[in-house]
Amino acid sequence: RAKAGGRARWEVFDQRMGEQAVALLQLDSELRDALGRGEFRLCYQPIVSLQNGKIQGFEALLRWEHPSKGCISPLEFLPTAEETGLILPIGQWVLEEACLQAQRWQQAFLMDPPLTMSVNLSASQLSQPEFIEQVKRVLQKTAVVPSSLKLELTESMAMSDPEHTARLLFELKAMGIQLSLDDFGTGYSSLSYLSRLPIDTLKIDRSFVSGLEKSSENLRILEAIVTLAHTLNMEVVAEGTETIEEVIYLKRLNCEYAQGYFFFKPLGVADAEAALRQQLHQDGRTRRLDSAECA
Ligand code: C2E
Ligand code: MG
Ligand code: MG
Ligand code: MG
Repeated sequence: RAKAGGRARWEVFDQRMGEQAVALLQLDSELRDALGRGEFRLCYQPIVSLQNGKIQGFEALLRWEHPSKGCISPLEFLPTAEETGLILPIGQWVLEEACLQAQRWQQAFLMDPPLTMSVNLSASQLSQPEFIEQVKRVLQKTAVVPSSLKLELTESMAMSDPEHTARLLFELKAMGIQLSLDDFGTGYSSLSYLSRLPIDTLKIDRSFVSGLEKSSENLRILEAIVTLAHTLNMEVVAEGTETIEEVIYLKRLNCEYAQGYFFFKPLGVADAEAALRQQLHQDGRTRRLDSAECA
């Protein structure tokens, strides 16, 4: 009897594994089709200077415009894409599209320094032998200013193969590209290792930022992170900034930049351009190229 019960459990287990495998394959083939049909799209969330409230650049965020299900978050399909390897062509598309957009905006909205474009990387992209070559090709093809491209990686990506990652990051730096550490504070990276990486920017994870005025613990952690970053010559972006109270504290902590719903949600191209245009109206030092023709 015990045996029969055991077998029944295995059958249930098998069946569930089978269902998961089918779901994975199904999503993989849907994602493949989506890439072919051009259903992916990028949103752009402004990153704002806390000194003067100006847009310093954007983070490109992936969206899947599903024909029947509507807009799907990357959190829902990136794990599968990572597992099946489809993240590689998707990631390549993201990089190229974001660089193209950055180049267009840099031409249309002259700013000094030029607008930056932050692009999220996945672990498999970093471990791909052709990664550096692909980035070089995209830089050439899109003619974006390399120093305005910021590649974002997470602590766990940096820690998974430290030797390889360090070499790769120094190569990217040598190409003039900037590097950001995303979701900082949620991983388990060794500070001594991090301090040896050529990282330009720490992005403090939303979990430390939200409600920081109500949590003296978060406030102390934030203060320590900002101090650490500045000691290592890094700038700080506070992710997920949603309230004026948070902004006041972040300014007081000398955090350089903020990104979050308080300023802007991730925007489509037209809305991002409207935000840039509005900023230009308020600022005489920056000029728009097409209006410069009339002068
Ligand atoms: P992330 O890189 O940390 O991006 C920030 C996420 O926080 C975005 O979620 C953004 O919409 C959200 N966010 C920004 N401000 C606020 C706020 O004030 N409040 C709240 N609650 N959320 C805010 P999103 O777009 O859903 O992206 C989720 C994650 O998916 C990203 O986290 C990133 O890790 C990954 N991802 C997005 N696009 C790409 C991509 O092109 N490639 C790769 N490899 N990963 C991507
Ligand atoms: Mg990011
Ligand atoms: Mg983040
Ligand atoms: Mg994140």
